[in-house]
Amino acid sequence: MSHMFVPGPVDVAPEVLAAQTRPMLPHRSKEFEELFRRNEERAKQVFFTKNRLFQGACSGSGMQEAGIRNFVQESVLSCVNGAFAQRWNDVAISNGKQADKLEVDFGEAITPDMLRDALKKKHYEAVTIIHNETSTGVQNPVEELCQVLHETSPDTLILVDAVSSLAGVKIDMDALGIDFLLTSSQKCLALPPGLALAAASDRAMKKAESVTNRGWYFDLLLMDKHRIKDSTPMTPAMSLIYALDVQLDRILEEGLENRFNRHTAMSNKVQDWCSAHGMQPLAKADYRSHTVVTVKNELKWDISALNKFLMTRGMRIANGYGKLKDLTFRVATMGETSLSDVDMLLNGFGDFMKQ
Ligand SMILES: *Cc1c(COP(=O)(O)O)cnc(C)c1O
Repeated sequence: MSHMFVPGPVDVAPEVLAAQTRPMLPHRSKEFEELFRRNEERAKQVFFTKNRLFQGACSGSGMQEAGIRNFVQESVLSCVNGAFAQRWNDVAISNGKQADKLEVDFGEAITPDMLRDALKKKHYEAVTIIHNETSTGVQNPVEELCQVLHETSPDTLILVDAVSSLAGVKIDMDALGIDFLLTSSQKCLALPPGLALAAASDRAMKKAESVTNRGWYFDLLLMDKHRIKDSTPMTPAMSLIYALDVQLDRILEEGLENRFNRHTAMSNKVQDWCSAHGMQPLAKADYRSHTVVTVKNELKWDISALNKFLMTRGMRIANGYGKLKDLTFRVATMGETSLSDVDMLLNGFGDFMKQ
């Protein structure tokens, strides 16, 4: 049973799965430290950063929590345009922070003007932004949003969740001036779940020094102390670190530009097919995700029947998320998915319609 077109966990290449069966090493050994460092160096290329990069034994939500606990003492602005953005707001509130919301309807993007207005009303220590909102298939205009922040509130830290886009879409962390950029292993990186990667700027780490109650497990200053010695305060997720080693080689071998172009071509193909068959993407044209298409279910397809049909061919898609269930469905084209896989899926859609 393949997961192929669901937004994580996505299919993992057999050689990456196999890497997890390598024998364990003591994590305080030279061999492990070298591997850990090589992973960091190569992962930084995927993040387009020279900043420090953490390899955490948690899913992406853990890094959302780390961002809040380390970089926010009191006030944060959560940009909320979908379920994962709402989660980051929940994380902030449950950690005792004053988290105001800049909220738009599901399916809309956060625009630079909205952000500029919100920043006029109040000063924030940090802003949280989801790059690619997986529940709605909306890609926020992060470049423009960063620009607004640099212009109107230059000391506000910019925290960006790119869980469902990093390694599928170019996000130039250093050029955009992002302070904290996080992702999970099980989406565009096409690894098994359980590992999260995040990079942090110098000024964010400086800020963390003044933040109290950072906790222990997600204390990035503590992690950084060990990171410079190519290690972690706690036992790392070793098998996943092995898998990351192999997968980073595969990603860099494909070439980042090729990988990004492949994702754009796949999502365009899905969007075009659905539009041509009378079902529009939920997101407006300028804000469509390159890794997951959320389609308005205008033909009133029975999504569980559709999946039953697709699964006879080893494929499946995802229903809409939360309140968008059955009103939309989602086709994720993350990780190692190819254009010919997409053709196979769209043929499947066509055959389902003929039934
Ligand atoms: C999947 C997802 C998350 C949650 O990540 P986990 O690894 O499941 O904790 C957060 N943000 C976005 C945008 C996601 O797509």
